[in-house]
Order: sequence, then C-alpha cells, then structure tokens
Amino acid sequence: MKPTPKIYLSVVIPVYNEQDNLKNLTARVMKVCDGLHHAYEIIFINDGSRDNSYEMLNILQEKHAKHIRVVHFNGNFGQHMAVMAGFEYSRGEIVVTLDADLQNPPEEIPKLLAEIEKGHDSVGGIRIDRQDSYFRKWASKLNNKIRYFLTGIKMTDQGCMLRAYNRKVVDLMVSSYERAAFIPALAYTLSANPTEVEVDHSDREAGTSKYNLYKLLRLNFDLMTGFSLLPLQIFTLVGMLISMCSFLFVIYMFMRRIIVGPEADGLFTLFAILYFLIGIVLMGLGIMGEYIGRIHQNSRSRPKFIIQDIREAK
Ligand code: UDP
Ligand code: MG
Repeated sequence: MKPTPKIYLSVVIPVYNEQDNLKNLTARVMKVCDGLHHAYEIIFINDGSRDNSYEMLNILQEKHAKHIRVVHFNGNFGQHMAVMAGFEYSRGEIVVTLDADLQNPPEEIPKLLAEIEKGHDSVGGIRIDRQDSYFRKWASKLNNKIRYFLTGIKMTDQGCMLRAYNRKVVDLMVSSYERAAFIPALAYTLSANPTEVEVDHSDREAGTSKYNLYKLLRLNFDLMTGFSLLPLQIFTLVGMLISMCSFLFVIYMFMRRIIVGPEADGLFTLFAILYFLIGIVLMGLGIMGEYIGRIHQNSRSRPKFIIQDIREAK
C-alpha cells in the first residue's frame, strides 16, 4: 500500500557498511532538518550491511523514533534499489537523497529545497571541487559523454546522489517497474521541469568506497540498457555495412578468379580481417545479452528487493 504524503520532507539514505559514519551523519542531517521547522523523516535503507550498521541504525532509530525510520534489506541489492525502496516508503512532499558517507554535505539540502519550492519537480546536484580519486573523476567525464551520446539525457553530474524530487516524480519512479534502475536518469526522463544546482563535496568521512571497477561497469550497463537502444541499432548498421562490403569483395574475387585465376596469397590479411569481424560479432552478442538478461530478470518478476525488517515508530 502506498503511504499517503503527510509531511514536508523525507531524506532517503542508502547504507552499506557505513557503521562509522551513521552517528555523525544523523546528527548533521537532523540539525539541518530541525532548522526547516517542518515535519520531516529520515529513512535509512540498510542494503545488507555486514558490519555493525544494523545495530547502529536500530539504536539511532530508538533514540530518535519520531524522525528516523529504518528499512533493513535481507541482502545486498545495490544502491539504486535501496534508494527505490526509500522512495516507496517515503511520505514527504519532497524527497531528498543523500550518500551515507558524508561526501554530500547535508548542509546543502536547503539549496535543493529552494529549487523545488520555485516549482522544479527534480533537482540534481553538481559536485564542485569533487573530492575523489583522479581515476574516478576521469571515468565520470567519459561516462557523461557516453551517456549523452547514447541516451540524450542532459545531466552535468549523473553520479551525484544529492538530489531532490517532488512527490509526483517520486510516485512515477515507484510505479515504474524496473529492477536495474539508474535513479538520476529515471528521474530525469520522468521530470517535466528538472534543474541543477552546485553543491559542495567532501572526502569520505570513514570507510571505503563500495564501488569497484566491475560494479561501476555494471552500473553503466544498467544505464545503457535502461535508457537506450542505440547500441543495438549501431550493431545493425555496422552489420549492414560489413555485409555490403563483403558482397562487393565476393564479386571482386569472383571476377579476379575468372580473369587472373585462383590466388592463395594474402592469407594472413584474411585472418586479421576475420579475427576483427569475430571480435565485433562477440561484442554484439554480449550487448544483446545485456538487454536479454534484463528482459529475463523482469519477466521472472521476482521482488526487486527483499525486506527483512522495518523499524519505525508505531
Ligand atoms: N551503497 C549501497 N549499496 C551498495 C553500494 C553502496 O547502499 O551496494 C551506498 C553507500 O553506503 C553510500 C552510497 O551508496 O551511502 C554511495 O556509495 P559509495 O560512497 O561507496 O560510492 P562512491 O562515493 O564511491 O561513488
Ligand atoms: Mg561515496
């Protein structure tokens, strides 16, 4: 059952092994929210943490039962699914998302709220002076270019999770049935009037990044398959082009055989061409597999995430 919005603000925070950040994070978010003088809630989604985040969250929830709700997953379903669960349980007219590692300063939340109050239905943060490794920043730049090329989605900083949405966009996201969702892109496609603001960015307070190269790559495949058919179309076009060239080549070889006679030279050139083509075919199969895998996942229609336990004031 969908909860009816009753309060002004929901802050949704995904948590995966963040035990050393939770206390400080809660204090800072609560300080900012208390300053708003409106009803608010903070929803933590524990994405199957294996450290003490489970206990820490329960203690914090008991201490601030009026403001904190905790959803515990029974496994690791990924940051975006955690945020999705937060949306589902949120009751606020405005929903703000935030990372648990304090890389997004909670003190920037009012900036986002101001944009929503102006009438925008979603607001994305742009991290100025981003405090991440050189590699991560470079990878993000590349990502941004590829995403724009593939999906046409105009977003300055897709990786920034300090974002705000109004109730309408949140409801649309919740009702869209996708298990490999990339939240900022999904919100963008569902918003009528999105905007962006610059926000601060800090180093991780404690713990380490939960994303390795593999996970980042998977996330990008989610983005690509979820929002674009261009990779498949490119393969159709490239395939057509190569077939045409091969056809001309066959005609040429046939004529040559009639006029000059058979030839056996150039064997290795042929191998090179063949390997190149096999490479392209394998890549095409892989890309097709990415799409089919997701169709398969969706058609099995298993739950997107499994909740073990919810802690909130009765
Ligand atoms: N996170 C999550 N599930 C995961 C990975 C990450 O809920 O499988 C959370 C994590 O606890 C943090 C946020 O998503 O609140 C962003 O993760 P992280 O800081 O590791 O990403 P980075 O800043 O390195 O992009
Ligand atoms: Mg982080």
